[in-house]
Amino acid sequence: MTQRLTLPPLAALTAPSLSWNAASPYSETFEDVYFSRENGRAETEHVFIHANRLPDRFSHWPEARPFVIGETGFGTGLNMLCAWACFERHAPAKARLHLLSTEKFPLTHEALAQALEAWPELASYSSALLAQWPAAVSGIHRLHLTDRVTLDLHFGDTCERLALLDGQVDAWFLDGFAPSKNPDMWQPELFHSMAARSRPGATFATFTCAGVVKRGLKAAGFSWQKVPGFGRKREMLAGQIDTPPPDGRRQQTPWFTPPAAQPAAHIVVIGAGLAGASMAAALARRGLNVSVIEKQAIGAGGSGNQQGALYVKLAAQTNDQSRVYFSGLLYSRRWLEMLDPTHQLWHNSGVVQLALSTKEAQRQQRFLDAHALPDGLLKAENAGSLGGIIGMEVDAQSALCYPQAGWVKPRKLCEHLLSQPGITYHQGEVISLAESSQSWLIQLANGETLTADQVVIANAQQANRFEQTCELPLQTVRGQVSSLALPENVEGPKSVVCAGGYVPPAVDGVLTFGASFMPNNATTQVQDQDHLSNIDELRRTLPALASALEKAGVDLTPANLDGRAAVRAASPDKSPYAGPVPKAEAWQQDYALLRKDATRVPAVAGQHYPGLWISAAHGSRGLASAPLCAEVIASRICDEPMPLEAPLVDHLHPGRRIISALIRAQ
Ligand code: SAM
Repeated sequence: MTQRLTLPPLAALTAPSLSWNAASPYSETFEDVYFSRENGRAETEHVFIHANRLPDRFSHWPEARPFVIGETGFGTGLNMLCAWACFERHAPAKARLHLLSTEKFPLTHEALAQALEAWPELASYSSALLAQWPAAVSGIHRLHLTDRVTLDLHFGDTCERLALLDGQVDAWFLDGFAPSKNPDMWQPELFHSMAARSRPGATFATFTCAGVVKRGLKAAGFSWQKVPGFGRKREMLAGQIDTPPPDGRRQQTPWFTPPAAQPAAHIVVIGAGLAGASMAAALARRGLNVSVIEKQAIGAGGSGNQQGALYVKLAAQTNDQSRVYFSGLLYSRRWLEMLDPTHQLWHNSGVVQLALSTKEAQRQQRFLDAHALPDGLLKAENAGSLGGIIGMEVDAQSALCYPQAGWVKPRKLCEHLLSQPGITYHQGEVISLAESSQSWLIQLANGETLTADQVVIANAQQANRFEQTCELPLQTVRGQVSSLALPENVEGPKSVVCAGGYVPPAVDGVLTFGASFMPNNATTQVQDQDHLSNIDELRRTLPALASALEKAGVDLTPANLDGRAAVRAASPDKSPYAGPVPKAEAWQQDYALLRKDATRVPAVAGQHYPGLWISAAHGSRGLASAPLCAEVIASRICDEPMPLEAPLVDHLHPGRRIISALIRAQ
C-alpha cells in the first residue's frame, strides 16, 4: 500500500473537552473514559503490561539498543508510566527503554497533573513527565525522562504520525477510545503502519475485541488471540507479528535508506564546538565511550562566544527547514533545562524578532496567517506592547515573540557537555580517516593513530577536508560580535532582541551584540569594519539603548569595543548536514539515471561509509540545530526511533545535494 508521507501543518492542537469524576477524566468529545474508574492502574497492568509479557521481556533484555514501546493515544500517560515503572523493577541496570506515543488532543499541563494525582505511587514518574510536558503543537517532542528512559510524544493524528515514524517497535499498546466511539482512528492504515514499523516478533495488546480491529490486524500481518479481559470485560486481544512487511516508503528515495546498525562501544567525535560536544554528550548518555578530538580548543570556532542567541527565523510558509529548526528550538529548550536546571549556562529570557520595515511586518503577518501556533511558543506583539517586554522603547511596526527562546553561554555549555562521564577530550588535529576491518583509523598530525568503532565528523568548515567528505559543499561565513561594559546607570534589553543581528540581555555588566555576516570569508581577525556594522545594527534595533549609552558618555566607536570573530560553516541550502556519510562516487554511478529521467528511480539503497557520520553546517543557528542533530545521529547509531519525522530526517541527510544535483542536471 502507498504510504502517506505529507507532513501535516505545523499547528496548535486542541485540548480535549473533559469532565471529571474525582480524579478520573472523561472525554466529552469521544464520550469515553481515559482509564477505568474502578482500577485504572490494574487494568493497564493487565491489558498492556502483562499481555505484552513486559516483566519477563524486560528482565531478559539482551540488546544494547533500547526496548521500544509504541502506543496509540497517550492520554494521561498512565500506560507509559506503568511501563516505565515495570522497566525500573525488572530490567538490568544497563538496559534502556524508549517509549513513543501518539496524541491528537494533548491534555493541558493542569489537566494532566490533576489526572495523575490519582496515582501517588507513580509520583516520581509523573513529576518527570510534568516537568517536561511540551506545548500542544504538532510534531515529535523528545523527552529524556532519565538517562536510560526516553519518551517521544508524537503530537497529531495517530495514522498520520505512525506513517511518518522512522523507527521500529518491540511492543504496541493499541489504545485510543473504543472503535465504536472513535472509528476514525481504527483504520486499515493504522494497522499497516504498525506492521511496517514493527520489529520481527513485535507484540501488541489491546482492550478491544471489535471485529474491525481483528480484521485490520490480521490483514496487516499480525496474529492474535482472545485472552481474558480486565474486570467485567470478558475478552481482549493480544498477539504478534513474526515477519513484518518491508518498509515501502523507500521506493521513491532509496538513497536515504539508513545503513544497517553496527555495534559500537568507542566512538571518536572530531570537533569540540557545539556540534561535537552535543554529539559526544548524546552518545555518552547512551553508555558509549566517546573520545573528542579538537585541533584548537573547546569552542574555539563559531561556538566560542560568551553569549549566543537561541532562536530561529522561520519561513513565512512552512517548509522542511523551518520544521527542523522549530523542532530543534523546542528540543534545545528542554535539553538545556535538563542539563542546567539552575540556568547557569543559559537564560529563558525570550526572543523578540522586530519588524523594522513594512516588508518584514508583512512577512511576519504571512507567517502568522500560515501558522496557528500556541501563544506560549510564538506570539505576535504590536508596537505598543514591545516596550514593556524589551524594557525600552523600540521603533518597530510589530514583532514576533518566542517566549521559549533565550540566550546561552555557548563556550561554557560546550565545556559542561564535555565534562559528562564517558567523554575523554584530546587535543590534536585529525588529518585523515581510514577504514580498517570493522573500525576506523584516525590519523593525527602528530603521528599518533587512534582507533574507534565509529567516527562523527563535527568540525564545521573543516568537515569536508577528509577524503570521504570532500564532495560535501560547505560555505564559510565570517561573523564578528562586539561587546562593551555597560555604565552603571544603563541597562541592556530584558529579552534577546533580533532584527538584522541580535542583542541579548547583558551578562555580568557586559553587553554583546552582533554578529556580522560575511559569506565566503574565513578570516578571524577582529575588524573595525565589522564593529561599525554591528554598531549600525545596534542603533537600528535598539536606538534607545544606543542613545542612553552615548548620554552616559560611551563613545560608540570601534576603539571602545571588544570583539571576537569566528567562522561558521553553512550548506548551500542552509540546512545542517546530520547523518551517515554517503559514498559520493557510488551515488553518482548508482543514480546516474536520474540525470536523464528523475522519475526512473533505481531500486538501489544508498551506499555509505560504514560507521562514518557527520554533524556540520549549523551556520549561526547551531544552538537550535546541533543538539537535535546530535540526537538524530545518536539515535541512528544506536538503532533507536528517530526524533524527527522521516521526511525531516531525509532533509538533513548529507547526501541530499548529490541527488538534487543529478536531478538538476537533467
Ligand atoms: N493511553 C492513555 C493513558 O494511559 O492514559 C489513555 C488513552 S485514552 C483512552 C485515548 C487517547 O487517544 C486520548 O487521549 C485521545 O485524545 C487519543 N486519540 C483519540 N483519537 C486519536 C487519534 N486519531 N490520533 C491520536 N490520538 C487520538
